[in-house]
This record gives sequence, structure tokens and C-alpha cells, in this order.
Amino acid sequence: MPYLDLVFDIPHRDREVFTYLMDPNGAASPGKRALAPFGRRESLGYIIAEKALLPRDVAEESLKPLRRVVDKAPVFDEGDLALARWVAGYYLCGLGEALAAMIPSGRRVGPSSSFQDEEGITGESLLLSGEQQRALEAITGEGPSPALFYLYGVTGSGKTEVFIRAAEEFLARGKSVIYLVPEISLTHQTAEAIGRRFGSRAATIHSGMSPSARLNEWMRIRKGEVRIVAGPRSAVFAPVQDLALIIIDEEQDGSYKSGSTPRYHARQVAMRRAALAGAALVMGSATPSAEAWKLMGEGRIRRLDLTRRLAGGSVPEIRPVSLEHSPGCLSEELREEIRKTALLGRQTILFLNRRGFGYFYHCHSCGYELTCRHCSVSLTYHKGKGRAVCHYCGYSVPPPTACPQCGSLEAAFTGFGTETIEEEVRRTFPNLRLRRADADTTGRKGSLKETLEIFRAGGIDILLGTQMVAKGLNFPGVRLVGVVFADTGLHLPDFRAAERTFSLIVQVAGRAGRYFPDGKVIVQTLRLRDPAITRACALDLEGFYAAELTQRQALNFPPYTRLIRFTFRSREADRADRSGQRLAAIAAPLIPPGADFLGPAECPIGIIAGNHRRHLLLRGPEMGPLHTAARTILDHYEKGRDSRVYLEIDVDPVSLL
Ligand code: ADP
Ligand code: ZN
Ligand code: ZN
Repeated sequence: MPYLDLVFDIPHRDREVFTYLMDPNGAASPGKRALAPFGRRESLGYIIAEKALLPRDVAEESLKPLRRVVDKAPVFDEGDLALARWVAGYYLCGLGEALAAMIPSGRRVGPSSSFQDEEGITGESLLLSGEQQRALEAITGEGPSPALFYLYGVTGSGKTEVFIRAAEEFLARGKSVIYLVPEISLTHQTAEAIGRRFGSRAATIHSGMSPSARLNEWMRIRKGEVRIVAGPRSAVFAPVQDLALIIIDEEQDGSYKSGSTPRYHARQVAMRRAALAGAALVMGSATPSAEAWKLMGEGRIRRLDLTRRLAGGSVPEIRPVSLEHSPGCLSEELREEIRKTALLGRQTILFLNRRGFGYFYHCHSCGYELTCRHCSVSLTYHKGKGRAVCHYCGYSVPPPTACPQCGSLEAAFTGFGTETIEEEVRRTFPNLRLRRADADTTGRKGSLKETLEIFRAGGIDILLGTQMVAKGLNFPGVRLVGVVFADTGLHLPDFRAAERTFSLIVQVAGRAGRYFPDGKVIVQTLRLRDPAITRACALDLEGFYAAELTQRQALNFPPYTRLIRFTFRSREADRADRSGQRLAAIAAPLIPPGADFLGPAECPIGIIAGNHRRHLLLRGPEMGPLHTAARTILDHYEKGRDSRVYLEIDVDPVSLL
């Protein structure tokens, strides 16, 4: 057939499908990618259909031939296309944008990184506990569809073991499995565990892979050579054959939500895929998201409890401690415990939450704060570099010697940063061996692994770092974990801030408890009475979720409502303002019953990289009517759109910053 329909990785405006003539080699067919003349350039497009006849209003002379077909074999099929259409519809993006998010961008099939079949892939045959056995039977058994499960249990309660057994069971039936893990933390460990159990039937997709290596795995998966795929968020699109199970480990993790268009949530896509394929979906965590908790309460997700720590160990003592009157960032209690731990010949981990600490320049005379020239955020002082740096755009300046505004010398950097804390700890404990592990020190490949190895072997007394050190939390030598500053974003205008703080503390405490019955976790805070902190320290999960859900309901926020966020970005503030107001005026008469909208308002982070940001939230009890309204609103908005304002759409936003 001579005519081909293509879509491109561009926002859906008034038109998204473009028709071309066959390429000179006649290689084009649906499912392949091709280079095509597009505007004044040449663009990579996705061939979604071929057809014998042109619509009446299209003249053959107006069509151009494709330049070149990129793929030898199709990289997507009807099923992928249907999923992409759903993504585009749900996340209000172009079909081409959806396909671009799904399909690895590699052009040529590269080397394979698959696991080798090794001698002795036996799988440790642990005898499952009664709870594990019941959970496994529920997941692999016959049941109503869609089969949605939640494995709820502390770290060490044997969730991973159940996930892997369930996967084995489905593979034995000739089916396939997708196993999602959070972006950073556990990918590697889980991948190794899966490689050990499943050998060459497994593939891992991770962010460190080249696009062509990814494409290679994608094609192996499509051919059915791979039956279990492990990876972060994008692995939810893996084109496995006969999908029977999707696993989402650490379901509450923020990395399951994409930070760029289409801003999909892997959990949402997984629910859709599971429903389409008649597959089961099982999530797991010690700290479920508020959304999942609510669905469990309503019985829409079946909760499977794992209440025992199978690897032994017990819950450590978790003590909240005020930082209010401490001169530095170590409270008297924490210092005392570090000392005691060292005397016992044991180890300490000091845990810093990346989002939680700030280290900003503040003038006590005039109130001046040193902020980025391009973003409305404080600059952070990096002693190693000798510069004050913006964490959003990278802008940096040498630190001022006096207040740039009033000249006062009563101005300095205050707050918490890994470097200040490192300095203070070294000063306080000059005889203890300290190592810091964070993005600045672990840039070199393998150095985190090395640090953790030395730590495990006892060559470090105090390990200091961000999320990265979480893996060391269950080492046998550890007695003390200090959460240096727990108030992660509690001051941020984001309705999920409490949930995040709570979950961080519970996770740290949970990981920490494995080996040390005499162990301690000290949680330093400026908000000793904040319920997110007190309930986390008491490990009162039921209490926290009950209170949090009551509050969300009272404030009309998710999970009691759904949100669609429109963010306007422009170099010029008044353009962003006007576009926001225009969209609000369009939206006002189109708001569905029971819904409302908030804004337009300046975003909590008002400027990023020189772009002024305004947002507007569409909020309602159900997504269906919101979607319908949003589409109509966008159609109107497109006509007469200010081309110097960029509009970003986020369906089910997780952050409102
Ligand atoms: P989680 O994923 O909940 O953190 P894991 O599945 O990783 O828990 O199990 C934690 C530890 O307990 C692992 O060392 C694992 O080998 C062990 N374990 C799991 N299930 C059992 C079991 N049925 N009997 C004994 N040990 C188990
Ligand atoms: Zn000043
Ligand atoms: Zn900046």
C-alpha cells in the first residue's frame, strides 16, 4: 500500500497524524520508525498505519516520500499502539509523545546484556512462612479480575521472596512477568537476584544502559525470548508476551512518576496493562501511598499482610529529638549515642534527606537571602567547590564576604548540608573514621560500592550520606542510625509533604532494625510535635494514615479528588500570567459538576532557569469528567495560544512545586 501515516514526538495540537508516500526502498511498514521531511527539517516518526486510499481532501501531489526507514523489523505492534493511545488520552499528550516515552530511542540493535545461564541456578528453596504461602496462593490463584494485591509488611518480612516465587509460578505456566523497582536504590540488587533465579529468561532495563542496548533488550522481549523483565518505571511498557503478573516494589516511591511529558505514573499504566491482559498486579511496601491505603480500606485492592521479620532482628528504639537548641546539627543526645556506639566498637550511620536539608545564605541585619539569578530558590554553599550553587539550574557564584544588600557582616550560610555536617562530626569526633557518600563523592563509578564494602568490613566508624547509604542500614556492625534532619519538606506547600516525611522515617527505621536488638534510631527535627514525626517514631501506621486521609478529605485533595495541573512557563512573567488567566476564563464555564479549579497562581517555585511559572489545578471527584473538560479547555486554549508560553500538563501530579 502506497500511503503511510506517521506521528512524531511533538505535542498534540490541531493535527497529529501526517501522511507520506513510501520510501525509495519500499521498506516502510507499520511499527517501524522512519525519517521523514517535517516542516523545514527531517524528523524521526512512528509509522502507525498504511493505507491504499487517500482521504478525498488530500491531494497526492502534496505528499512527500519518507526519506529512510530506520528499523529492519517493527519495534512496536498493535498492542503497543493501543497502550500508547491510552497513555496519550489519559495524560493528554500526543500519540507520538507517548510512543517516544515507551520505545527505546536506540537506532540500531546493540550488544546484549542478558544474563548468562549459569551452572547452579537453583534458587534458594526457602520454606515459605504461613503468611507468605497464603499471599503466594492469593496472587497465583484463580480470582476475580482485575486481580489487585498489596503485600504490606516491614522490610525483611519476605516480600521479595513472595514476588519471586509468584514470578516463578507464572513462568512455569509459560507466562511473563514485569517486575518494577524504584529508580535508584534497589535496581541492582533486585536485578542480580532475578538474574540468579531466572538466568537468560530475564532481562533488566536500567537507566545506565545505552539506548541501543535498551532497544536490543526490547526486541528480545518482544520475540518472547525474555519472560521476566526487571526495571524502573519505563519497564512497565516492556512488550512481554503473555503478560500474567506485574510487580511494583516500594509502590509509594516517587520515581514511578515521570518528570517529563508524558508525565505518566507507572502504577497507573500497570493497572491499565493488567486489566487489558487479564493479568494480576501486586504492589508491596512497608509504607504504602495514601492512594493505595485508601483503596485497600475500600477493598478494591486486596491487602496481604506480612507481619513477621523472617530474617530475625527486631524493631529498634526510635527517638525523636529536638534540634531547637542545638548550636550545630548534632543534638546532645545524638552526640552521646555516637560516643557510646564507638565505645562498644559498633558503627553509626548519619542519614541526610536530600530534599530536607538546606544550606542557605541569610543576613541577620536586613533579612537578605542569596538566591539564584535564574530561579527563585536559595543557593547552596559547596565548600569543596568554594561556590554557592543553584540545585535547579547549576548557576553558581563565589560566596559573599558581607551582605550584598546592606554590607553587614552578620550574614552567613546557615542550615544543614552534607559538608557542614561532615565538618562538625569530624570536629566533634576527631578519632573516629568517617566517610561521606552522596552524589558529590560517588560520581566515580564503583566508589559507593567500595565505601559500603569498607563499611561492612568495619573500616569506617561513621557513614554519612543521603538515600545512597540506605543500603548499609542493615549491616551487622551498625548500632545507631541518626536521621540528621527529618523535616523533609514539611515546610513545603505540597499536600504530600507529611506523607513523604513519614514514609522516610519508617523506611529508615525498618531497614535499620534487622541486626541490632540494642539498636537506636535518633530522628532530629525542629518539629517535635508534628504528627508526621511523632507517629512515624511510634511506628503508628494505622494512626498516621487515618489522620492523613481525614485531612486530605477535609481539604479536598487526593486520594479523595483527582487533579490535572496546568503549568505555564515563560521568560516573561506577564505572559505566563496572561496565559494562566486566559485558560482560567476558558475553563470557568466548562467545569464539571462537583469539580473546581484552583488558581491561576504563582508556583511555589516561581522561577526556574529564568522561566516564570504559574499554575492552575483542575480538581474533581472523578477523572472521567475532568478529562473531558480538560480536552475541551485545551482545544480552546490552542486557538490563540501565546507561542512564547510553554504549557505543561500533569495528570495526577505528585508534586505541586
Ligand atoms: P522484604 O522484601 O520484605 O524486605 P525479603 O524477601 O528480602 O524481605 O526477605 C528478607 C530476608 O528474609 C532475606 O534475607 C530472605 O532470604 C529471608 N527470608 C524470606 N523469606 C524467608 C523464609 N520463608 N524463611 C526464612 N527466611 C526468609
Ligand atoms: Zn543585609
Ligand atoms: Zn538556578
